[in-house]
Amino acid sequence: MLSNSSLAPPLKKGGKVAEHYAGRFAPSPTGPLHFGSLITAVASYCDAKAHQGQWIVRIEDTDIPRIYPNSEEHILKCLDAFEFESDVEIIYQRQRLDLYESVLEQLKQNNLVYACECTRKMLGSNHIYAGTCREKHLDFQNQAIRIKVSAQNICFNDRLQGQHCSNLQHDLGDFVLKRRDGIINYQLAVVVDDYLQGMTHVVRGADLLDNTERQIWLGQCLGYPKLEYMHLPLAMNDQGQKLSKQNLAHAIDTQHAPELLLQAITALGQPPVDLDQPHQMLAQAVAQWDIQKIPKGTELNAIFV
Ligand code: GLU
Repeated sequence: MLSNSSLAPPLKKGGKVAEHYAGRFAPSPTGPLHFGSLITAVASYCDAKAHQGQWIVRIEDTDIPRIYPNSEEHILKCLDAFEFESDVEIIYQRQRLDLYESVLEQLKQNNLVYACECTRKMLGSNHIYAGTCREKHLDFQNQAIRIKVSAQNICFNDRLQGQHCSNLQHDLGDFVLKRRDGIINYQLAVVVDDYLQGMTHVVRGADLLDNTERQIWLGQCLGYPKLEYMHLPLAMNDQGQKLSKQNLAHAIDTQHAPELLLQAITALGQPPVDLDQPHQMLAQAVAQWDIQKIPKGTELNAIFV
């Protein structure tokens, strides 16, 4: 395990800081916010507030080539229209690249990562990395950086999905933390920021369930505290695909914030709230919040657009 003394202390801005619960909504601006992201925002907010916790917004924009024009503005406009308020100043990951680099440095010094020259072409369709470059001791300059994984089973108990396990060596192999083009991978940025922002709980879509063991492994290597996870069933379209920009999910129309908010709350299996100002509706949803009522499984039954 590493010592964290060389890392910046957790970022916490004034005010009262919850001791026991800090959660977040962490959209990537790879497209405008759609109904699926609204469900995540509502669930992460209600769960945090029902635990008298903090709720923090973080923009995950390290993958600069995938940033979709104006989507960041749309995300912020939606948060405003739905009267969601982050308890600390919103952070943007692309402004924190030095922090991620300093964590990579820690990992290098502890021999937990290595440089990899394998191109996508060389790897072909094989999704399990065979560790080809592990013992090559290549210079880190202009190469991808991979973290070594071990053959142990990593398990966690998801608050909705139950026990979930993966043997990273068997299922995935050593995985990339920094791409060859210099882009910091989501897995690294998310783990570092969840730690630095003092997160205790992660509430997000079930599409990220399979990423969790990677994040737990990385957190363990860095000596970070464990988190609680809750992966929400996904909103699907009429083709049986998860709502996403690729599937042309409709952008949230902020003109209809109260109606959409009510739809998101009921999609989460919660009792309906009265149509009102979003802030009042959210307060009522928090007061009624019950995770036992969230539909089971990784997909919602109803069809959304
Ligand atoms: N940024 C990720 C996304 O928009 C979510 C990350 C997370 O919640 O861990 O899909």
